[in-house]
Amino acid sequence: MSHVELAGVVKRFGTFEAIRGIDLAMPDGAFTVFVGPSGCGKSTLLRLICGLEVPSEGTIHFDGRDMRGVPPAGRKLAMVFQSYALYPHMSVADNMGFALRMAGVPKAARATQVAKAAETLQITPLLARRPRELSGGQRQRVAIGRAIVRAPSLFLFDEPLSNLDAELRVEMRFELAELHRRLNTSMIYVTHDQVEAMTLADRIVVLHDGQIEQVGSPAELYERPVNRFVANFIGSPRMNFLTGRVTALPPDAVEIAIPGIDPAHLTLPLLERGSLAVGDGIEIGIRPDELLIGEGGAARLPVRVEFSEYIGGAMYLHAPSHEAGRLTIRCPGTQAPQGTLMLGIPRERCHVFTTEGQRLS
Ligand code: ATP
Repeated sequence: MSHVELAGVVKRFGTFEAIRGIDLAMPDGAFTVFVGPSGCGKSTLLRLICGLEVPSEGTIHFDGRDMRGVPPAGRKLAMVFQSYALYPHMSVADNMGFALRMAGVPKAARATQVAKAAETLQITPLLARRPRELSGGQRQRVAIGRAIVRAPSLFLFDEPLSNLDAELRVEMRFELAELHRRLNTSMIYVTHDQVEAMTLADRIVVLHDGQIEQVGSPAELYERPVNRFVANFIGSPRMNFLTGRVTALPPDAVEIAIPGIDPAHLTLPLLERGSLAVGDGIEIGIRPDELLIGEGGAARLPVRVEFSEYIGGAMYLHAPSHEAGRLTIRCPGTQAPQGTLMLGIPRERCHVFTTEGQRLS
């Protein structure tokens, strides 16, 4: 049985539909990440799951039980927000034990649970401090600690790392993954940062305009994005897109003319062609690390490198190709090639999309 199951969930604010029909099952113990651009509905979906919002339509079940009418406190979940929401006048230990105190847990039992959670998060030496005496990362750990002591069956995280600096984010990401491994409790995590999503998730749910674009493992989303939106959103730096036109449809393949490439036509394998016809527009997606520099590939494309970024051990080259649009290329080494560069397009690494953005193949 799925731990959390959403069926036909719609959420309207007045006439605006923020969530537009979501069906989603999250397995027990999974680390699910909701990712998508600002305003796509990630936080609203999380708030619907935790009971802070009520669906306009559809149902939410936890372990087969309908959550309609069940308040957040009755859902056995703990939520960690971006703004840690710690009580400034209380010690770390009191902050962590607050929910237990409210629930009437006796002092000794409270202390034991707080000590255990503090040990898990390695914040035992901080228990007597006030929040203002802590760093951002330590505060975040206390906020997570406060969630852990309640032994919830589901953790919800709403962009919990976005107030931390880059280094701490990476460290906390590692700690969250480790925490999930140790507790084996279902976690749902919201972020707009696709790198965070890729590194933490068992399953990623890509949202856009209140709808699901794709659900899959990080590798599935990266290797086989179902549409241009997901292809463009997942992966850093972003995928390159070349625009062309279908010139022939031989069996199980498509022949495409892309301005500026040599030879003038590129033939790619294509088993599912849908209603594609000769003369239709088409888009080829290729990731910056899949473009070949120099020899090789099914076709070549000359570009002029406009500027380069050194990223340690490799460089990103940025090149406006006069006809195909701007391209980003990952180039190993420390020396950026000068002048015109010949790029090779490897047939097997190309993603093919219709002009409406649907994946073909
Ligand atoms: P961000 O990454 O910027 O936090 P998000 O993906 O979490 O964005 P939501 O906060 O879920 O997006 O909002 C989705 C849409 O619903 C937005 O257009 C937002 O303006 C709208 N919205 C959210 N809450 C309300 C509300 N209480 N009343 C009216 N509109 C709302």
